Amino acid sequence: MIRITTIIGARPQFIKAAALSRVFRQRNHITEILVHTGQHFDAGMSEVFFRQLEIPKPDYNLGISALSHGAMTGRMLEKTEQVLLDVQPDMVLVYGDTNSTLAGALAAAKLHIPVAHVEAGLRSYNRMMPEEINRILTDQLSTLLFCPTETAMKNLEEEGYPHTLSNNSAQKIHRVGDVMYDAAIFYAGKIKDKAAIFARYGLEQGHYVLATIHRAENTDQATRLISILAALAVVAEEIPVILPLHPRTKKILEHEKRPTGKIRFIEPVGYLDMIALEKHAALIVTDSGGVQKEAFFHRVPCVTCREETEWVELVEIGANILARPEHLAETVFGILSDRPDYRIWNDPLYGDGNVAAKIVTAIESYLCP
Ligand code: UDP
Repeated sequence: MIRITTIIGARPQFIKAAALSRVFRQRNHITEILVHTGQHFDAGMSEVFFRQLEIPKPDYNLGISALSHGAMTGRMLEKTEQVLLDVQPDMVLVYGDTNSTLAGALAAAKLHIPVAHVEAGLRSYNRMMPEEINRILTDQLSTLLFCPTETAMKNLEEEGYPHTLSNNSAQKIHRVGDVMYDAAIFYAGKIKDKAAIFARYGLEQGHYVLATIHRAENTDQATRLISILAALAVVAEEIPVILPLHPRTKKILEHEKRPTGKIRFIEPVGYLDMIALEKHAALIVTDSGGVQKEAFFHRVPCVTCREETEWVELVEIGANILARPEHLAETVFGILSDRPDYRIWNDPLYGDGNVAAKIVTAIESYLCP
């Protein structure tokens, strides 16, 4: 029996883990022990995903959240180590670039437990982002590195990967594709009543802009967040703008009583509603990594409010446009009046929707050669 301990803690990790968890359950000789660090803990950011995506209840819940980066990562490291000593897994699986990712990888590596990193090799080349620090260090600590894109493979190559782990072993790098694509296809098929979703949000399909803003680089300075919202308010004069509010953004807005025009703020939505909202939006404005890709999966134009992105291939093919706050409204209006024809982009940039199975097979071959 192979024992895998999966460490998750934040919303996008629940979605990625759902895709792999399903494959683990299909393979009788694998037991997955799920650890939820608690980074995202409330019903709308956590519980709804476990329920809708049918992720098993976590075996351990560390209950660590709402702390500074150092305190959060430190406590997660300490508690994850205890769990790993207790569970003694054959491998630890981590996703993406959060504090939970780094803490899980570090705890495992120090206990000489091999680490598998899903979403390895991504870089923004901006070390002001907490996520960038987490990615670089997690890749260093990992034994199996699963790259979602060709760019991620190149990034690792340029940094001199694979590194030697001991006298007779080295890191193994696999270009597998993106598990978020697996999830997007699979769960899109689970949406039962699309009309009810649009009725719930009072929206007309194809006639609204969906926006999400939560990254530290856009929220740490209230002035930047306010200028993004001012741009969205200009857009909202012409077409409905709906914005599910991430708790971090919500917290800042509670202190900033600036007018935000007709933007419709709603609570974070569950994944099935989110897919439906993405799929039928006229356009998506975001700073989320996951949402940039999902816009492409559903062939919806995307404007990313950031200085750079890890998903450069989308910018290269013109599916995603980076825009500073001061150019956000004009960029949105430009695309809305001259919508690109997405049918020409048939490149399987993110794999074939069977990425989770490929990852699990690679893990099996590593642990049972
Ligand atoms: N998402 C969701 N409900 C929301 C906002 C986002 O289900 O209200 C999903 C979204 O579809 C994507 C993931 O959460 O799959 C992205 O998470 P987030 O933007 O928090 O993190 P990032 O991808 O930037 O790491």
